[in-house]
Amino acid sequence: MKTVLITGASRGIGAQTARLFAANGYAVAINYCCSCEAAQALVEEIVAAGGDAFVVQADVADAQQTADMVQQVLHRCGHIDVLIHNAGVASQKLLTDTTPDEWRKMMATHLDGAYHSCHAIVPDMVRRHEGVILTVSSMWGITGASCEVAYSAAKAGLIGFSKALAKELGPAGIRVNCVAPGVIDTDMCRNLDDETRAALREETPLMRLGTADDVAQALLFLASEKASFITGQVLGVNGGFLI
Ligand code: NAD
Repeated sequence: MKTVLITGASRGIGAQTARLFAANGYAVAINYCCSCEAAQALVEEIVAAGGDAFVVQADVADAQQTADMVQQVLHRCGHIDVLIHNAGVASQKLLTDTTPDEWRKMMATHLDGAYHSCHAIVPDMVRRHEGVILTVSSMWGITGASCEVAYSAAKAGLIGFSKALAKELGPAGIRVNCVAPGVIDTDMCRNLDDETRAALREETPLMRLGTADDVAQALLFLASEKASFITGQVLGVNGGFLI
């Protein structure tokens, strides 16, 4: 049975990705940082549907916690076939209103988190000469968003990280790809008012906001053998918002 470790999987895109991978035969390690109850409820839902899932707690900004989490998954499953670094935080404010702590948290979650999880997992993948690493960036990491300088910088960093790692790990049989979602209707966007949501819908050629499942399906494809010659790519999942 293939194993996937999904960071930040207690809700939103991560949770839907967990459901989809479980429905497609993966054993799913559901990482959460603080939302133990939600993560546990998701495991129960997946197991009730006949899937295999379990929770692993770690703040991915913390190197030791992330390394311990990876060891826990390796101990239970023997190997990790797919890592999806999905954990993220968002904040909308002017750069000049962004405190050093807020800046650090943004970089720590998105970028340090990618480094910590890959640093812990890659040796085992290299030993087995196989594996897939997927990162969840954002279209703002490509274009930049006003009042989201820290978020855009972190997500742009994640794109560079993924492309460089794809080059480094290609000879070891490991593929690394990135998805760059547009506006996806999850808790991360719940603070947008109706007017802003309507404007974003109108700006999107497909005339709707994305769903967590839209992103999960792209991740499932990139993890699959169907994508066996695809590495170092950034797949937009944005309804045509950014072409
Ligand atoms: P969300 O807020 O519902 O989910 C983010 C998850 O990451 C939460 O479960 C949160 O607890 C977890 N998390 C945050 N910090 C963590 C840490 N240090 N360690 C472990 N887990 C941590 O939002 P979402 O929309 O599901 O976002 C998932 C990913 O998709 C994020 O990386 C986000 O930046 C990205 N994204 C979202 C959108 C969107 O419009 N929703 C668009 C582009 C990219």
